[in-house]
Amino acid sequence: MENTFETIRQILSSPLWGVAWKIFLVSMGVLWLALVFWTLKDARKRIDDTLIVVVSVLTSLVFPFIGTLVYMMLRPAEYLIDARERELEMLAVEQELKALRICPNCREPVREDYVACPKCRRPLREPCVVCGRPLEYWWKMCPYCGHDVNAKPGPSSGGEDGTFRARADSSSPDGTVDESTQLLEF
Ligand SMILES: [Zn+2]
Ligand SMILES: [Zn+2]
Repeated sequence: MENTFETIRQILSSPLWGVAWKIFLVSMGVLWLALVFWTLKDARKRIDDTLIVVVSVLTSLVFPFIGTLVYMMLRPAEYLIDARERELEMLAVEQELKALRICPNCREPVREDYVACPKCRRPLREPCVVCGRPLEYWWKMCPYCGHDVNAKPGPSSGGEDGTFRARADSSSPDGTVDESTQLLEF
């Protein structure tokens, strides 16, 4: 035992030991500063608040190694850029969900442009008489073509249609009237 202590004392008093100790201390110092710099770089990528970034860097600087370790344990799990991307993805999913609706009768998901539920046949919307696009029941005007939903179809066109039908009806039973309508057409 006595011998071992003697050897240790000899090593500690040797000039080589002093040099090795100095090199060790300088390496530790460099590592410490590198960790402080790394904390700054990492915190800026993860934390939006400048004050918290400063606190993280100061912790890393004032408490060598331990401060950096604490920062690594407490830092936000993801980068700011990833968090923003995830937010955008969530927004996109939300928009998709908004476009999807649910049939009030059978709870089947139905699309915005469906006129009826394909599963239970429940009418969901009325197509516009002018442009054929699906209209909600509470809409007073077609937002696609500007057609007033409450307005009745024009009386002139309906009348024309009616007279044409009446003429066709009158012509059908009798052969002679049929000839007259043919003449009229010429
Ligand atoms: Zn349904
Ligand atoms: Zn329309």
